[in-house]
Amino acid sequence: MIETVTRNDSLYPALCRGRNARFPYTDAEGVARVELCATADDVAVALRRAVDAGLRPTVRAGAHCYEDFVVNNPNGVLIDVRKLSQVSAAPGGGYQIGPGAFLGEIYNALFEQAGLNLPIGSCYTVGAGGHISGGGYGLLTRQQGLTVDFLTAADVVTVDAHGKVVSQRVDRHHHSDLFRAIRGGGGANFGIITNFYFDKLPAAPKHLISGGVSFPWDTMTEEQFIHIAQTFGNYMATRGQEKDTWPLFTMMGLSHKAPNGRINIGAHWHDMDGKSDLSIPTEFLDLFLKCGDASSDSDPQTNANAPVSRFQLSPCVEGKHRFNTTPWLEATVGRGSGGSSGYGTTRGKYKSCYMKQNFTTAELKRMYAWLTRDIPNVNTGCIISVDSYGGAANQAHLVHETAVPQRSSVMKLQFQMYWQKPEEDAIRLKYFDDMYTDIYSANVEGKHAGTPFEGPHYEGCYINYPDIDMARYDFWPQLYYGTGDLYPFLKKVKKKYDPHNVFHNSMSVRA
Ligand SMILES: Cc1cc2nc3c(=O)[nH]c(=O)nc-3n(C[C@H](O)[C@H](O)[C@H](O)COP(=O)(O)OP(=O)(O)OC[C@H]3O[C@@H](n4cnc5c(N)ncnc54)[C@H](O)[C@@H]3O)c2cc1C
Repeated sequence: MIETVTRNDSLYPALCRGRNARFPYTDAEGVARVELCATADDVAVALRRAVDAGLRPTVRAGAHCYEDFVVNNPNGVLIDVRKLSQVSAAPGGGYQIGPGAFLGEIYNALFEQAGLNLPIGSCYTVGAGGHISGGGYGLLTRQQGLTVDFLTAADVVTVDAHGKVVSQRVDRHHHSDLFRAIRGGGGANFGIITNFYFDKLPAAPKHLISGGVSFPWDTMTEEQFIHIAQTFGNYMATRGQEKDTWPLFTMMGLSHKAPNGRINIGAHWHDMDGKSDLSIPTEFLDLFLKCGDASSDSDPQTNANAPVSRFQLSPCVEGKHRFNTTPWLEATVGRGSGGSSGYGTTRGKYKSCYMKQNFTTAELKRMYAWLTRDIPNVNTGCIISVDSYGGAANQAHLVHETAVPQRSSVMKLQFQMYWQKPEEDAIRLKYFDDMYTDIYSANVEGKHAGTPFEGPHYEGCYINYPDIDMARYDFWPQLYYGTGDLYPFLKKVKKKYDPHNVFHNSMSVRA
């Protein structure tokens, strides 16, 4: 049964917000009502009511959207699918996952039911609804692939040309165009997903084994910064693409310079067979011993998304490095509510970049300059998180089966900025935008300068890290969907399944 929450309801102040405290921008821009749905039928009814009333519906699962696509909906209707959270065996075999399931709940249920894994992200409270429809990647993506690479079917509710609400199962044989579009094309573009199906899933590893090195900012020179970053980038572009290294997930946290701050490198080895062979993470970490004054770190945390473990087996030493071994389930769900789980306290802004090659010296000089620039109350809370990529994510044939075109990258960057005070919004957003524009003017020229447009160095941006600053460029769809046939294809799907543009936001697919 649908529970409707309106402005007069005591639950409204909590439910009208996103987890990012920036949204809605003002109370007046909040939704008129929230429809808490418990079943796929509820979703269809809530959608029909919104359409009949001429109100804009938006959709929410885990509430982690990076931009104003969900709760900023003046006088509109927010259809909340959090209660559709089952993770269970599907009637015809395989597994089904409701869009409201949190990633932590998915790891937990799949592991406990069958010792299986779905390569999803690392934040416990991110919802399947947004995460899977935007592609989904995580620590096991290099070994196993993207989340949508495993998707075999979904139930989707759409609004047809007559304004009628239609529920359909989509897969390779039924509505195969819509099926491809929802495999990474981005949330709430075509309809509302009420169930995801997976025929076959890979086995979960036995353990996650983590080690790291870190370097103090206090003594960091530009030369050392470049040396560290290029050591990381060179490994990912070369040795890191060889298959025996795919169980290795590496991260580099390029934080803003702060007193006593450090640049961290993390190595997370997925121990698939329980043999705990640490030769590959050791080989990787050894490279940084030549970069200067490094300290070993057995619990590397380079960004807000990294798994933090409470329960670990005794640390072990391999060469000069200390490693912590964590049982797989503890490594994935042990953090409980990890990664900005609360509502309405932290403000955030994000940008992204897929990289096909090592960093150039020119772009690292610009990064160093921005990360050492001192503007009080502005540069704190800023980090460039560099994640390893490639491996199984780069299966070229999946470009045409899914809506994720980035299949040639070796690193994936997430620019993150966090703060608390609304009065700092304007100055922080400008600093962050200027930084990104400057960095991506080092290797990109002409009208695409200021962006990681597809070319020899870059492969655009990630739609699950949407950034409305990019919408100022008329080529923004190519940044997210590539320069091939994908965006024209998505436009056709949009026209066919959402002819009235019921599902729209500032970066939705245009028919
Ligand atoms: C702390 C943190 C860590 C993260 N880590 C990772 C990571 O490791 N890997 C990664 O790939 N991404 C990661 N992300 C990004 C995350 O995948 C996206 O923010 C994702 O879109 C959030 O989905 P949600 O359901 O939680 O958010 P929501 O705000 O509920 O939804 C996001 C978008 O999807 C739409 N949507 C939601 N449900 C549905 C549905 N049922 N049908 C159709 N559209 C729907 C919404 O309308 C909205 O446009 C992280 C984000 C955060 C905040």
